[in-house]
Amino acid sequence: MAKEKVTFEINKEKDFSNWYSEIVKKAELGDLRYNIKGFIVFQPWSVLAMEKMFDYLEEILQLKGHKPYWYPAVIPEKNFLMEKDHVKGFAPEVFWVTETGAGEKLEEKMALRPTSETAFYQMFSIWIRSYKDLPFKTYQRAQVFRYETKATKPFIRSREFYWIETHNAFDSRENALKQAKEDMETTKEFLWDQLAIPFIFFERPQWDKFPGAEFTFAADTLMPDGKIIQLPSTHIISQKFTKAFNVKFTNEKGEEEYCWTTCYGPAVSRIFAAMISIHGDNKGLIFPFNVASLQAVIVPIYNDKNKEKVLIEAEKVLNELRKNKIRSEIDLTDKTMGEKFYYWEMKGVPFRIDLGEKEIKEKKATVFRRDSGKKTIESISKLSEFILSEGKKQLKSLQEKTRKNFEQGIVSADSIEKAKKQLEKGKVVKAEFCGTSMDSAECAEKIEKELNASVRGTKFGENEKPTGKCIACGKKAEKVIYIAKSY
Ligand SMILES: [Zn+2]
Repeated sequence: MAKEKVTFEINKEKDFSNWYSEIVKKAELGDLRYNIKGFIVFQPWSVLAMEKMFDYLEEILQLKGHKPYWYPAVIPEKNFLMEKDHVKGFAPEVFWVTETGAGEKLEEKMALRPTSETAFYQMFSIWIRSYKDLPFKTYQRAQVFRYETKATKPFIRSREFYWIETHNAFDSRENALKQAKEDMETTKEFLWDQLAIPFIFFERPQWDKFPGAEFTFAADTLMPDGKIIQLPSTHIISQKFTKAFNVKFTNEKGEEEYCWTTCYGPAVSRIFAAMISIHGDNKGLIFPFNVASLQAVIVPIYNDKNKEKVLIEAEKVLNELRKNKIRSEIDLTDKTMGEKFYYWEMKGVPFRIDLGEKEIKEKKATVFRRDSGKKTIESISKLSEFILSEGKKQLKSLQEKTRKNFEQGIVSADSIEKAKKQLEKGKVVKAEFCGTSMDSAECAEKIEKELNASVRGTKFGENEKPTGKCIACGKKAEKVIYIAKSY
């Protein structure tokens, strides 16, 4: 039987789009051949990593006081119609469930949830009574459905995606704002501390908010092709929704008030897409150590004579690694050595441990680190210790690399012409602009039309001061904005 040679060599810098499609296929992350357009099958190699990502996020959220819920995937139409901006924003993307298998029309249409504010708030109105119930912090891990009309791309945009949505109620606007800041902290603890994904938190301009929100803050990162991708966003919903849904509490003075709410939506499948895109190289994937579903793979090197001996030793090494909570496996396939090496490089496993008779005799093993390509000979008794400490270094060095690329990806421009040139080179453009209230929506429209790019907003928390004129209308600039091509 001819063995398939597993190689992966695609120039990511030259042709990112092709690299991405190929790695999704080759590493068996998702299968696009499911027979409904816009939906894909998520395969074990992506699911296992995303499970780890969910674990991290849920742990952080629970430590910050959010309680998990599982809501129905269907939302009655009347909930949906309660808040007009929300309906307007989401209506075109909703999948409606309208009839039974027996062909009977349902009494009321139900939406497959595109997001669950209108499901959560309906119950909030029942559960929340007094200031003593607040803050009321919830979340659910769920998939949502949106009838996307833009071209779909696995993990980046599809008609069903996996996320966490938090929904929270507070007794004041101030506490709602505090929550948004806490969400930004959570984003940092997750995206940067665990996944080495650099990002900027933008305050979205008024014309580009989540439908029904007062403020929207979103973390954007830069993909290798120079396009921005939106990762988690957090929204101050204000009292619009709580008035619509009658979510009230009695304050300490015995008076009734409407709650203030926020929501936060890290789309894990999309974050996964950004992570593999940013870290991968021409040989394939590179998983950050903490979310790699397999952190170390042992490749035993043997012949017919010493096979048993080598495998016994490999088993011992495996047990030791597992005892130290390093997710590991032995490669027992009958592929050639070369094929095994290519395969695990392509799959992005952070460490490979090569173990042969010679090494065993010397009580040593060769450890190959995927991201740096560095090989180290380490004594078998210290393998776990070594891998755990190198795992931390791996994360640090991924951070250094991605931070540098991110910073180099942002440049300033003081005219539409210059901005255009930079965008063509795959850069994000920083520019001065007249404002972010609805008054400036026209300028933004002009920019977006002429540059075929989007205005991402202002950098949150930095209060960047402009000194010149609006790039679009020439009036005195009030804000510094960022313009980018986006997913
Ligand atoms: Zn302007």
